[in-house]
Amino acid sequence: MSAPETLARDWRDARLPPAGVHLDSAACSRQSLAAIEAAAAHARHESEVGGYVAAQSAAPALDAGRAGVAALTGMSPDDVVFTTGSGNALQLLLGVWPMERTVACLPGEYGPNLAAFESGGFTRRALPVDGLGRVDPDAARMALGDDPPAMVHLTALASHRGVVQPISAVAAVCRELGVPLVVDAAQALAHIDCVADADAVYSSSRKWLAGPRGVGVLAVRPALADLLQSPDWAGPLSALQCLEFGEANIAARLGFSVAVGQHLAAGPEAVRQRLAELGRLTRTLLADAPGWRVVEPVDEPTAITTLAPTDGADPVQVRARLIAEHGIVTTAAGIERAPLEMTAPVLRISPHIDAYTDDIEALATALRALT
Ligand SMILES: *Cc1c(COP(=O)(O)O)cnc(C)c1O
Repeated sequence: MSAPETLARDWRDARLPPAGVHLDSAACSRQSLAAIEAAAAHARHESEVGGYVAAQSAAPALDAGRAGVAALTGMSPDDVVFTTGSGNALQLLLGVWPMERTVACLPGEYGPNLAAFESGGFTRRALPVDGLGRVDPDAARMALGDDPPAMVHLTALASHRGVVQPISAVAAVCRELGVPLVVDAAQALAHIDCVADADAVYSSSRKWLAGPRGVGVLAVRPALADLLQSPDWAGPLSALQCLEFGEANIAARLGFSVAVGQHLAAGPEAVRQRLAELGRLTRTLLADAPGWRVVEPVDEPTAITTLAPTDGADPVQVRARLIAEHGIVTTAAGIERAPLEMTAPVLRISPHIDAYTDDIEALATALRALT
């Protein structure tokens, strides 16, 4: 068996078999039995000894989860706090933002992030991008140099398009300009390399890390964390620690921490290579799907493929029929995902490393039958 086949088999063996074909990891991956069991065991433990006593005994496992996220983002374990998701992480960060409320972000910025900037009172300007929505770091240096914003926000990999942003090059430009870089790694963590010199990174559990829903993380480097606004009640807690203070689903955080550990054990680089391979395979097999156009370049190193209808197909309806008639799970992404860039909904296909070539071929056949 080849190394990628072994990787895929181990991932499959760690889970229940899917009921149908799951090509929807950008929305929500399938959890491992170990992650599910860790959360369930903690819930049982809470009922035996009390929720707050159980939380104390969970601390080392949660620390390991934070340390795993730190390893994947180039941060330190103490820089990482749990949230309930990516959107929550951004809200928390904006809520304690210590500088001017000005941000430069992609024209293809995630819609709910745009709304968070708006409600946080941020003035926004667009980073310069190419025709695929990929930022041009040199053009960004030129555009921002004279009058830099107080934050550059980069969504490293979008929800509506599997195109990788040059995180490290943007981080270098931000360092040069002295502007903090905040990275939305909701789709990027455990999918593409997220070790970069960013000042803050946040992500979700349920997507490529395959943890439970309702968990996320926020990592902030000390230089920025030390500036964040602390609440009056902070006492000995840092502003960052205060963000994690409050009611939380500890069981889910434990499941997440197990998922992070399993990802690290599988080998992040091997997973990235396999995901890139599956993206290439998907785009190749769907290249001539009648009535659809593959948006990404075939070799884009991600497992997200988006199909734009060329002949009036409705992605919402096609997604529903793929599930109902073929047992194939995908996402219909509406323009609210990137309201400043998208003009029509797309169909998103996002296999994890367990997908078989047969799965993608089944999708190609089903699409032909439906459109
Ligand atoms: C899913 C997603 C989010 C929001 O994540 P939640 O955990 O649902 O809050 C933010 N940004 C991008 C690019 C996403 O794909």
